[in-house]
Amino acid sequence: SATAKIIDGKSIAKQIRDEISVEVSRMKDAIGVVPGLAVIIVGDRKDSATYVRNKRKACESVGINSFEVRLPEDSTEQDVVKFISEFNDDSSVHGILVQLPLPSHMNEEKILDAVRIEKDVDGFHPLNIGCLAMRGREPMFVPCTPKGCIELLHRSDISIKGKKAVVIGRSNIVGMPAALLLQNENATVSIVHSRTPNAEELTRQADIVIAAVGVPNMVKGNWIKPGAVVIDVGINPVEDAKSSRGYRLVGDVCYEEVVKVASAITPVPGGVGPMTIAMLLTNTLISAKRAHNFE
Ligand code: NDP
Repeated sequence: SATAKIIDGKSIAKQIRDEISVEVSRMKDAIGVVPGLAVIIVGDRKDSATYVRNKRKACESVGINSFEVRLPEDSTEQDVVKFISEFNDDSSVHGILVQLPLPSHMNEEKILDAVRIEKDVDGFHPLNIGCLAMRGREPMFVPCTPKGCIELLHRSDISIKGKKAVVIGRSNIVGMPAALLLQNENATVSIVHSRTPNAEELTRQADIVIAAVGVPNMVKGNWIKPGAVVIDVGINPVEDAKSSRGYRLVGDVCYEEVVKVASAITPVPGGVGPMTIAMLLTNTLISAKRAHNFE
């Protein structure tokens, strides 16, 4: 039976990092400016520490300066905001990222709002999202994970215009902005969430499916229209006695089933994950170029 084309996010992300490297050097040579990304991490969640380490390594790999602040779990909101303010005023920092989730005693909204919109490379500021949603407006930055999903489609020569798309999930950081981006690309978009009674049936009508749910293997083969394109954002640890870590990562899509039905699919890991970091570097470069009027 037919098998989907595997969309290789790892190699596409590598290609994007190579392009960024070239641009970083060109900028440095021309005006002596090196883009900089500051990351603030609070507490010692293992997964957050891994994400932050990967971001630092990615910066190094393309020549972007990285700055890191680690604060203890019991820090106050003011402690975090103090560092954000310093980075806001530091001209060598072009992007500021607060690693989420924050400890439960902190008000996430208040902290994220402290990041200057010109340095909000995560694109989570309400003004960014508002501009993304409005016709004729341009956001300062597009959130990295959904931007990575669209970039995967573009770089795999999958056209979006006029297609029926279904986004499963409506979170502020993935589902909702992914739906807005698909709409901006002229797809006709439906959003499926936990209160959608006929999720399967709706999903089966889609030419393009983006799954961002957080439920392992939820999207089965019979949810997918033959020939559809499936982007799996999910990163879910499931127990695996055979793995040395005791778990492995699976997506929101039942890969073994869907790979037989779809025309193209992203794997987990190695699909959207590496793209998220590549888009963070892209946004940092965009920010530095904008700050220095460099084209
Ligand atoms: P959230 O938990 O914030 O949002 C999940 C969304 O899925 C919600 O809108 C929820 O609906 C919906 N949902 C939950 N259960 C169902 C269901 N049974 N049927 C239909 N919809 C459902 O998650 P995130 O958006 O932050 O993350 C989603 C996944 O993507 C996770 O696995 C996460 O680890 C991964 N992720 C991967 C990234 C990457 O770089 N590849 C980056 C960020 C996240 P409702 O709104 O009604 O509650």
